[in-house]
Amino acid sequence: MSKLRITVLERKGRAVIANKFIKEGELILTESPLISAQFTWNKEYGYLCCDHCFLPLESAQENVRRLAMDVSIVLPKQVNELADQIDQCNNCQAKYCSPKCASSAAASYHNFECNQYKFGGRFYEIHELWKKSHYPPETATIDLVIRIFGMIKQSNSAEVIELLDNFSKHSCNEDLQLCHKMLGEKFSIQLSQIHKEVQRIFGNDDQLAKYISYDGFVSLLAILGTNAQGIGTSSFAHWVQSISEMDMSEEKRTEIDTFIDAIYSRFNDTVGEFLDNEGSGLYVQQSKFNHSCQPNAQIIFPNSNSTLNVVALQDIHPEEEICISYIDECMLSRSRHSRQKYLKENYLFRCECEKCGSQIEDLDVTSEEDETEMDTDEDN
Ligand SMILES: [Zn+2]
Ligand SMILES: [Zn+2]
Ligand SMILES: [Zn+2]
Repeated sequence: MSKLRITVLERKGRAVIANKFIKEGELILTESPLISAQFTWNKEYGYLCCDHCFLPLESAQENVRRLAMDVSIVLPKQVNELADQIDQCNNCQAKYCSPKCASSAAASYHNFECNQYKFGGRFYEIHELWKKSHYPPETATIDLVIRIFGMIKQSNSAEVIELLDNFSKHSCNEDLQLCHKMLGEKFSIQLSQIHKEVQRIFGNDDQLAKYISYDGFVSLLAILGTNAQGIGTSSFAHWVQSISEMDMSEEKRTEIDTFIDAIYSRFNDTVGEFLDNEGSGLYVQQSKFNHSCQPNAQIIFPNSNSTLNVVALQDIHPEEEICISYIDECMLSRSRHSRQKYLKENYLFRCECEKCGSQIEDLDVTSEEDETEMDTDEDN
């Protein structure tokens, strides 16, 4: 991390600062997750990726045929496929992109969860309970919690707990507020049901004691709520990207672009927004970056797996804070009031970035998009 250092700023707390000049487009950091898991329903619906690193395990053509629900589609060009083999766990048939991912998973958490999600398994009930209350679009999964427990059980638990302690934490009330956000309206009933099941399974486990009490469990969910980074991969998106980098005549390019548009429009009719293999993970370094509504760095996933890169969006000077955005492009374009409301509810802080500062005189109105969304919510 020689390009960066972590410091504590008076108003903001922990922050990442540039040690030297970083050029626009430069790689600032590359990192694999401490732990990650595909979302429950995403996996259930056959979105097929490596159970450890999220690399898609379908070919681009299989991916398109599955999402468009049409086995007759043929992609007009071949590109290098992402996974050249599929490895699997001999016991539970969990699928991996390589023997390396299979053995990393087994060594760090998979032995703990192997075969336990099937009927009669140790985690069957809690998984069913989670599924019943968390329909897509998903933002979290109990599987990630179980993987964290697996990691504590299988490796040096003190070390893992120390790493978890370093993610940003909140007060008990704030933890509950975050769980509310994560679990939705009936959160208190769901939370107590899920916690009861956690207690039933792990109640006697000394190594996990810290996270099994009600407060401990709620605080773990809140850590995931504010720190877990969304991960999405797709072999068709990789195909589109590879095509865009190929040399071809203008005529051929127009033809292929029309084809791509037509495919996305078909996805829209079949699966809507559910295009990617989706899940989330905890990243030790990346979690230390603060948010800005006008960020000078962004997160990308260049290898179609869970390894993320933080890349400079503009020149960054020594001693400048490096910020990413916690909210998506669409939310970033909304009014100051809308952004702040969202950040307050989901991340429990009041944004004081440059952009918010410059818009301080704006009326406290929500963007039109928000109004429309609210209207639709009420109609439902
Ligand atoms: Zn893998
Ligand atoms: Zn297994
Ligand atoms: Zn802001």
